Amino acid sequence: MNENPQARQSTWVEVDLQAIRNHVRYLVEKTGTEVMVVVKADGYGHGAVPVARAALEAGASWCAVARADEALELRDAGLDCPLMMLGYTPEGRIAELLNLGVRLPFWSEAQAARIQAAAEQVGATAYLHLKVDTGMSRLGVQADQAVELVRVLERYPDLELEGIFTHFARADEADPKPTRQQEVLFEQVLSALDQDRLRPPLVHAANSAASLKRPSAHYDLLRFGISLYGLEPSPESPLPSAFQPALAWKSVLSQVKVLPAGRGVSYGHIYTTSGEERIGTIPVGYADGYHRVTGTEVLVRGTRVPVIGRVCMDQIMVNLDEVPGARAGDEVVLVGRQGECSYTADDLARAWNSINYEVVCAISARVPRYYQAAAPKKQPRD
Ligand SMILES: *Cc1c(COP(=O)(O)O)cnc(C)c1O
Repeated sequence: MNENPQARQSTWVEVDLQAIRNHVRYLVEKTGTEVMVVVKADGYGHGAVPVARAALEAGASWCAVARADEALELRDAGLDCPLMMLGYTPEGRIAELLNLGVRLPFWSEAQAARIQAAAEQVGATAYLHLKVDTGMSRLGVQADQAVELVRVLERYPDLELEGIFTHFARADEADPKPTRQQEVLFEQVLSALDQDRLRPPLVHAANSAASLKRPSAHYDLLRFGISLYGLEPSPESPLPSAFQPALAWKSVLSQVKVLPAGRGVSYGHIYTTSGEERIGTIPVGYADGYHRVTGTEVLVRGTRVPVIGRVCMDQIMVNLDEVPGARAGDEVVLVGRQGECSYTADDLARAWNSINYEVVCAISARVPRYYQAAAPKKQPRD
């Protein structure tokens, strides 16, 4: 980071790319399995391009996204790694994705026919991954129809089956049984394909939770999302100690004042001062993705202080009675560490009645991202 964000921004995010690299290296070393980093939703709010670049430097080999424009963004940035769409692709985007060598999932013959038409149009082979529904019940061919669908592909000259995959609904839970059941169903499909010599080169199933705790689900490729960013999939899937959150969300105190008892604070006056209170104002609000939910805290001078009253579009207020030294211009940490104190994405998620995934994805595009430990720019060779 070659500039001081606080001099120029009201609220900003800092991302430690070295943490991203460390997590990839740890996973590659521990599992010996190829890693596909999941950078959908702008890299879970961390910035897809810098995160993907750091992860690939550290030994990841694939990237995955959820939207056509997310795939384009990576290709536009010059990333030419194997790249996969995880879910739905609108028909009108298939041809441009095939042109960029993006791998597509499919789960029906109708899709295969549409992809074949697009492949003919652009004159490219389409590399496909068959999605099998083993119990997530979201996308995928039912397990007992998977082999039949693989056979159907033989009728489409420009389609090549490169992979087969499934997705776990409960791998983050303490009880392994529901995931085992999905695995057993997936194994049945794989052995049926083996028997007919139809098994494609890449089999994948593991999300972060299964990557970290279920070697039986590793197969050929790990789809590593939330824990790439140093966040745990759930409290029942704690992270190894080598992992740390890559993201911090910060702001600043724009005003500090002492108000008398009985003053209403923010819209609707849902909070009223009970005595003389020191109140701070912070330029972050729901338009930045700081949800309009009460009961959150932030860090000021290494201390947790409560957010009070309604969250506004661009601002929040805090009670600063615990930090009498607080002054306008002090750094505020919304998510992250300050001194000995931390307030994590999991802490904010608890107040929001949500999960850490939603916290980091919620941080809106108007919040600028700053990167620590970015690789030096390559000098053009002459
Ligand atoms: C988002 C996603 C992942 C990543 O899951 P994490 O829990 O974030 O590791 C893996 N596979 C599919 C199909 C996904 O949609």
